[in-house]
Amino acid sequence: MATRTASPLETVFDELGGSFRGELLLPTRPGYDTARRIWNGAIDRRPACIARCVGMVDVVAAVRFARDHDLEIAVRGGGHNVAGTAVCDDGIVIDLSAMRAVWVDPAGRTAWVQGGALWGDVDRETQAHGLATTGGIVSHTGVGGLTLGGGIGHLMRKHGLAVDNLLAAEVVTAEGSTVLASADEHPDLFWALRGGGGNFGVITSFRFALHRLGPTVLAGPVFWAADDTTDVLRFYRDFAADAPDELGSVVRLGTVPPLPGIPEHLHWRPAIAVACCYAGSVEDGERAVRALRRFRTPLVDLLAPSPYVAFQGGIDDTVIHGWHYSWKATNLAGLSDDAIAVIAEHAYAAGSPRSCVVMFQLGGAVARVPDDATAYAARDVDHNIVIEGVWLPDESGKHAAAETAWARRFLQALRPHRAGGVYVNFLDSDDDSSRIREAYGHRIYRRLAEVKAKYDPDNAFHHNKNIQPG
Ligand SMILES: Cc1cc2nc3c(=O)[nH]c(=O)nc-3n(C[C@H](O)[C@H](O)[C@H](O)COP(=O)(O)OP(=O)(O)OC[C@H]3O[C@@H](n4cnc5c(N)ncnc54)[C@H](O)[C@@H]3O)c2cc1C
Repeated sequence: MATRTASPLETVFDELGGSFRGELLLPTRPGYDTARRIWNGAIDRRPACIARCVGMVDVVAAVRFARDHDLEIAVRGGGHNVAGTAVCDDGIVIDLSAMRAVWVDPAGRTAWVQGGALWGDVDRETQAHGLATTGGIVSHTGVGGLTLGGGIGHLMRKHGLAVDNLLAAEVVTAEGSTVLASADEHPDLFWALRGGGGNFGVITSFRFALHRLGPTVLAGPVFWAADDTTDVLRFYRDFAADAPDELGSVVRLGTVPPLPGIPEHLHWRPAIAVACCYAGSVEDGERAVRALRRFRTPLVDLLAPSPYVAFQGGIDDTVIHGWHYSWKATNLAGLSDDAIAVIAEHAYAAGSPRSCVVMFQLGGAVARVPDDATAYAARDVDHNIVIEGVWLPDESGKHAAAETAWARRFLQALRPHRAGGVYVNFLDSDDDSSRIREAYGHRIYRRLAEVKAKYDPDNAFHHNKNIQPG
């Protein structure tokens, strides 16, 4: 039988003895090729080692090992970031995907969530107690990256961003020590974690505040034909401006996805959808959405009482792991008639039927948190938009360049209608560092740089939307 020769890295890790309980996936080991894959199939990187941690002590060991050996570090939460920052070439991936536990304290209405959990894990465990907190709109997105960038979702107008519900975080620092960050302990670090991304350490557990919700909520999309886009958006602008905080809404422009519940003859037809979720009683929700669903004649109206967990997973199959993605995003200054005209002109001009545009309504509780309370910027913005080029792995020749160019052209056309800033979690790998500064604005960026200099002066955690130590 052939014997396998251990690589030098493997030998060094072996020397760590009992301190690493998880799996060390080196290129020679089975499972390595699967483990280096992330949500965006266009990212193809080969780390020297994937350290799949099972607890905080493993993370400490991996960080110290990487620092001692001067290795590039990438941190993987849910692996969803479109820019692919969860995986690096040649260095070490600190992979938290085996750390997905959620512990709910129903009486205290809080939950501890491990750093590699997905939002589906959180929703499932919290909803068992009729509780929830703001998470993303796709259940296979990671809690880690989403929260650290701010965290927008259907519940934010009522309950704030994910970071507004963050009570504490257990952090492994660049030195390989552990600290608890909260309003009382390391408040500078706690401020930076709430929007500043993965720049300040590896979060092994997040503690969130929870709120009563459902388990049945009024939620779902209403679709109209693409020809109605201008009128729907003009109507939506006023409808959204008057909406109660309980009503979260997200607009999607593209083709109708082939999802259960959608008649087959509509699949792949260009359409605009407004997806709503009412964070209150179904009866109040029915009243809040009445005008929307009566506007013109929808192609299909799927707004209905639904288990919150099912609604949260409802569009998972429209953004499948391994497809190729290229995004462009910006905050919007408002939905003027001119801005709507640009959106209507460009949204359906993509070549791939999977490409789409998603626009989030912010405001409500998001806007009521003081600007300097967290590192999330642009709380006064009402809408942001993300232009998503999407194609199948074997369609790269046909679509990769064209969809990326479409997204860039669209962003350029939106230029006069952009508010300062962009949601940092929507930046892609070809967005340069000026867009990271744009995301935060000068004042927040400078404060983040000071915290970075204190907790990670060597910029060990730079495989992210990087803040330079200042
Ligand atoms: C299909 C889809 C839907 C999305 N929907 C939403 C949405 O509704 N709302 C929203 O706000 N965003 C949304 N996003 C954007 C999302 O917030 C980012 O992609 C985010 O980075 C995902 O986090 P992750 O942990 O899955 O990603 P990863 O790629 O694993 O992480 C991204 C970066 O975050 C850091 N990081 C992650 N976990 C940790 C940790 N535990 N400790 C330290 N650093 C960590 C690392 O620097 C890492 O490089 C969506 C993205 C996709 C692809």
